[in-house]
This record gives sequence, structure tokens and C-alpha cells, in this order.
Amino acid sequence: MKVAKKKPKEEKAAKPDKEEAKPMKKKEEKPKEAKKEEKAEERTARRTPRPARGQRREDADMAAEPTIDWVPTTELGKDVMSGKITSIDEIFKRGLKIQEPNIVDKLLPNLEDELILVGGSPGKGGGIRRTPTKRTARMHKSGRRFRVSAVVIVGNRDGYVGIGKASAIEHVPAIAKAKAEAKLNIIPIRRGCGSWECTCGENHSIPFEVRGKCGSVEVILKPAPKGVGLCVNNEMKKIISLAGIKDIWSKSFGNTKSRVNTAFALFDAFKKLNMMKVADVSVAKAKSSLKSNKKKGIEAE
Ligand SMILES: [Zn+2]
Repeated sequence: MKVAKKKPKEEKAAKPDKEEAKPMKKKEEKPKEAKKEEKAEERTARRTPRPARGQRREDADMAAEPTIDWVPTTELGKDVMSGKITSIDEIFKRGLKIQEPNIVDKLLPNLEDELILVGGSPGKGGGIRRTPTKRTARMHKSGRRFRVSAVVIVGNRDGYVGIGKASAIEHVPAIAKAKAEAKLNIIPIRRGCGSWECTCGENHSIPFEVRGKCGSVEVILKPAPKGVGLCVNNEMKKIISLAGIKDIWSKSFGNTKSRVNTAFALFDAFKKLNMMKVADVSVAKAKSSLKSNKKKGIEAE
């Protein structure tokens, strides 16, 4: 990016020296061939590093993102960089706050992200065409000023999920900001097998029923036996599958069509999973008694 910006400037700086700040009309008198050459030069200078508007710029930003140039600014970041902290569980155990997204990048390298379709525009023939970003407008004396917001979920499909919401003037930076925010909000997901219909003891569902709330939306999550799948709507499915949960039942109340609130209510429910204290002994006992009961039942039959 920097190289690209410098080049045109140099050219511009060089031109006045040749022409010695002649008026614009003189420029047109130049021979056509020289003009063509100049144009071609400009094109080549632009083409390589400098991205155009829209899609290309996004790619360039993505390329510029990698964590190689990361200089940690927080104590936690320095510890992670130097290798003192090697697992993200250590951070959660000590109750530290993650203030740099690069920490998460380094400790959870196989992180995936998903966009929640929060926005939409009324389409032809009724209904709403959903879009990943929501555009809102505020009135100004000279017209409307727009702002775009996005909700991004990050997770590794194995027990870690984060949610982030951010807004910006344009589409791409809003998503990038939301993604960074989601990395800061990452939490561990307590998984288990809390269904009485299933005593496998594997981490395919959640250990107990929880409810989360955001705005008017309330979400109840219930453990389900193996093979049920995710009984939730499609947007929530994205979050739950990124958390690494395979079977779940749910129920929701309120204005669930406000997708931002639904996503955050679900995330609130996930947080509640971690807040509950469960004595492992009692769980183990319950499981063993269930298993023995099952065996007895089989024998009785
Ligand atoms: Zn199970």
C-alpha cells in the first residue's frame, strides 16, 4: 500500500519540474505517443500494488492483516508472545481480560468466522433479502448519512466461541472491526451430555438447561440425546455449530426477528453455562446409577 501511494506522488512531483508549472492548456499540446506512454506507465504503476475500490481493497486488507508484525502492548500479549502462556484455558482460569485479538489468533490458530445476517432490504415479491450488514441512516441537513453495522461469530468448532458487533461507514471495515471484537469476547463453552435419554457422557450437547436474554428475546437451551441435531433457527445454528455442539433443543420468546438480540441472547445462555457450579462427583454418581439401572432393566427383561 505504502509503495503504491508514493509512486504516483513522485510522478506528479516530477511533472511540474519538466513543464515548470505551466498552465493546464499546454499539457494537451504534448505529442500523442508520449501521452500514451505516460498513461501506460501510470497503469502499470497502479496495477500491481494499489487496490481499486471495493473487492480488491478487501483482499489487500486481508493480506495486510497477518499477525507477523504484531507488537504486543499488554502484559498478557507479551506473555503469549514470549511463550509463557501456551493455552487459552490458562487465561480463562486466571480470569484475565483479552485486549488484543492477536492473542486469540496465536492460541487458537484454527478459528473460523461466520456472519450473522442482521441486515436486509425489502425485495421483489414481498419478504426481505437478508444481508450480512445492516445499514442505518441519520438525517443531516444535506441528506442522509449512512452507517453500517455487522455481527460476526468466531469459533473453533471445539468449545470456544466469541461474538462481536461493530459499525463503520463502510461494509468491509465494519465486518473487520466486528471480527476483532468477537475475538476479544471469546469464551469457553461447557459441553456435556445432560439428556436423560442419553448417557454416553460425551461432549455432544450441553450439561443442563440454561436461558439467556438480550432485549426482549429470551432463549432456552436444553440438552438433547445423540442424533437430534440442532433444533434452532438457521442463524443460531451458525453460532451453536461453531461452539462445537451437535445436539440441542431450544425454545425462544420475544421479538426473535431482531437477529442481533437473538444472537446475543444465545451468547448470554452460553455464558450462563460457565456460571453454574456443578460438583463432578454427583454427576458421575448420577451417571453410574443410571447406567446400572439400565443394565438392571435389560436383565429384568
Ligand atoms: Zn449423550
